[in-house]
Amino acid sequence: MKNTAVYPGTFDPVTNGHLDIIKRASEMFDTVIVAVLINRTKKPVFTTQERAAQIKACVKNFKNVKVDSFDGLLADYMRRKKAKVAIRGLRAVSDLEYEFQLAHTNRGLNKDMETVFLMPSAQYTYLTSTMVREVYGHGGKMQGMVPPRVERALLKLYKK
Ligand code: ADP
Repeated sequence: MKNTAVYPGTFDPVTNGHLDIIKRASEMFDTVIVAVLINRTKKPVFTTQERAAQIKACVKNFKNVKVDSFDGLLADYMRRKKAKVAIRGLRAVSDLEYEFQLAHTNRGLNKDMETVFLMPSAQYTYLTSTMVREVYGHGGKMQGMVPPRVERALLKLYKK
């Protein structure tokens, strides 16, 4: 049986922390689908197409990683993709409460899916897309935290 994992998220933008998780997942599963959430409530700064294109460019060397986007419930998307495992990243204890809520809700919606949590390298523990947007939005830079093409896109986006 093909072992497919889905890594869902907003990825606004994708960071080196996300890429660390994707690499780890790609070594554990036959296929990893990075699924960009078409987020209607969060109002992302990058469009779905931009976010997906950024990730695609960053994972082109991982042969078993695909990039897709989805709308609606992850539980339904998992069924459509016949995927059993959803990957989520756990940084610090602060992520736990929200991730537990999400995992239990998803289990209630789709009893066939499991959520697997992966930890990134320690240097990405406090890295969030929100922090990246804040820093670049105020003219700062974060060394080694986002891929170069994402940094270029951020500098262009927030250019005065
Ligand atoms: P969401 O809106 O789904 O929380 P994110 O793009 O912020 O989307 O995150 C997607 C997943 O990646 C979440 O499980 C999140 O905890 C995880 N994640 C985000 N940043 C990091 C990081 N620096 N290291 C590891 N995992 C991360």
